[in-house]
Amino acid sequence: MQGWIHWLAACLLPLRCRVCAQPGSHGLDLCPACHAAARRNLPACQGCALPLPLADGVLCGQCQRRPGPLLACHAAWCYGPTIDVLVRRYKFDNDLAAGAVLAGLMGQCRPPWLSGQVLVPVPLHRQRLAQRGYDQAHELACQLGRATGLPVRACLQRRRDTTAQSALDREQRRRNLRGAFTAIAATLPASVILVDDVMTTGATLEAAAKALQRAGVGQVRAWVAARTV
Ligand SMILES: [Zn+2]
Ligand SMILES: [Zn+2]
Repeated sequence: MQGWIHWLAACLLPLRCRVCAQPGSHGLDLCPACHAAARRNLPACQGCALPLPLADGVLCGQCQRRPGPLLACHAAWCYGPTIDVLVRRYKFDNDLAAGAVLAGLMGQCRPPWLSGQVLVPVPLHRQRLAQRGYDQAHELACQLGRATGLPVRACLQRRRDTTAQSALDREQRRRNLRGAFTAIAATLPASVILVDDVMTTGATLEAAAKALQRAGVGQVRAWVAARTV
């Protein structure tokens, strides 16, 4: 039913840029100028998506010295022009159409390791979910699931509300997130992809990955819309 509504809306409503209100293009509510203003995160470390000056497909020094719990991490876009507006509108202005554009942009630049995977959204705490009314990572994962044909399983729970940690540095974030997630399904897939909107230090993704690994998941990768750089 939901698929029908999306299809009908896509047929009836003209595409309109969620950033500047000009006509959209390429099947997205995003105009060519705002699309061109968004910066790809290339080349980037395969382990943590940190921008690298070297050729794509290598690991940064940190990932070489101390590999984290993520087998791979893909953030196709930089958190900067266009992407920052879309994320703000999506997360703080209840603009679900801006989230659909983010999912569309993620779908345009897919990681090479999607085959056979299960998408697992990084969940909000239930109090935050009650305030916002929707879980942004879950919505992204569902749209990516429709676009890729991959199954989506919400098998993580956030036990503590740790989202207000923008003032903390990487180590403080990591401490703050210890034990914040738990797996809630009895049987879990062997290999999953965490889905989230924006990664900053990667501490949230790492905490979510560790919770899945504690519950027996063998391989955890991450696919996010954008990385702060
Ligand atoms: Zn625009
Ligand atoms: Zn790295």
